[in-house]
Amino acid sequence: MFINEIKDYDSKYYMNTFGNRIPVAFTRGEGINLWSTEGEKYTDFFAGIAVNSIGYSHPTFVGMVGKQLSNIVHCSNLYYIESQAQLAKLLVDNSCADKVFFGNSGAEANEGAIKLARIYFKKQGFPEKFEIITLEKSFHGRTITTLSATGQEKYAKPFEPLTPGFKKVPINDFPALQSAITENTCAIMMEPVQGECGVFPCEPDYLQKVKKLCNDKQLLLIFDEVQTGIGRTGKLFGYQNYDIEPDIFTLAKALGGGIPIGAVCAKEYVAEAFSPGEHGSTFGGNPLACTAGLAVLKIMKDENLAENAANLGKYIKTKLELHASGSYSVISEIRAAGLMIGIQLNQPIAPIVKQKMFEKKFLIANVGDSILRILPPLIITQNDADAFLATLKSALDETLYGG
Ligand SMILES: *Cc1c(COP(=O)(O)O)cnc(C)c1O
Repeated sequence: MFINEIKDYDSKYYMNTFGNRIPVAFTRGEGINLWSTEGEKYTDFFAGIAVNSIGYSHPTFVGMVGKQLSNIVHCSNLYYIESQAQLAKLLVDNSCADKVFFGNSGAEANEGAIKLARIYFKKQGFPEKFEIITLEKSFHGRTITTLSATGQEKYAKPFEPLTPGFKKVPINDFPALQSAITENTCAIMMEPVQGECGVFPCEPDYLQKVKKLCNDKQLLLIFDEVQTGIGRTGKLFGYQNYDIEPDIFTLAKALGGGIPIGAVCAKEYVAEAFSPGEHGSTFGGNPLACTAGLAVLKIMKDENLAENAANLGKYIKTKLELHASGSYSVISEIRAAGLMIGIQLNQPIAPIVKQKMFEKKFLIANVGDSILRILPPLIITQNDADAFLATLKSALDETLYGG
């Protein structure tokens, strides 16, 4: 099919949740490149929203997942699953967690974390402790409960009434967090670096205080690492940049390299609160998804992708800051954690710049009118970064000065 026919089908048969999409459909990917139905080649600096961290068609991934595909895709959790056991061990061996549970998405992982926090306190004899404090502008998912946790009214408002028991405070405002705590609070839940709202990192000093507060008040600290996890921020997990450990953290996006999988990871003392039958999933942790996770983690390690993310994130940020003149002076701030990069503009031109980049066959995204959001695959090289920087420069030039 060509793009116009696909667009026709989409508008007739698909629920209109995504509005007018960017008019392209991809049929093939390799490395950091994608090819469209019209045969055109694109460079992907958004990675399917931080999912395709190992790029497209990685031979190790294709090999392992392809073999699993021909052996067994799914069997239920009524039986033991080899790749599930192996992936759980690998995550535990490489993180502060002692136990893992697999679901199918970020929202579902966060639902699991919220359920776990609540049942943990219930089983300790504190049923009144059910409230969770989250951050304004946060994003935790699209289910009714994760919308309740999400600090953005525009997503939640149309679906009220939502799950009760969530309170929002501004990021990096420790006094606000302190005064939000009551005898009903059970946990604090946050993204170490907020992604969806345009890349806003928690300050190290703030997170140190949050961790200490959790210890003092015996609250659980939950990190939503759905986007920051699996190397994106320059460490395998985002919390590892901050020298603190959450009690629970969640994963999804990059974990399966594009095969849907989510994970709730927790310390033993929290994890043991789930008794048999209290949580579950039909698809969660199936052989295919867990093999995909094993392949992704193998590639991350073999190719030092977290380190590459740290280095190239720093490289891109430094280059952008160095040239803060000419059309680059429209950039007022660069917020970066590894290859999770938000470029703040001081003019409302982000949608136009994104469009210009698209015309130049470069995929990036915008958040609102004044933030560009960059989430390249973690396999990019310095040459790829230079190509991006040069393209961005000309997109900015054209937007500001025409031509
Ligand atoms: C994307 C995202 C989610 C939601 O993940 P889904 O797989 O879309 O449910 C939750 N939290 C964060 C931080 C995310 O970036």
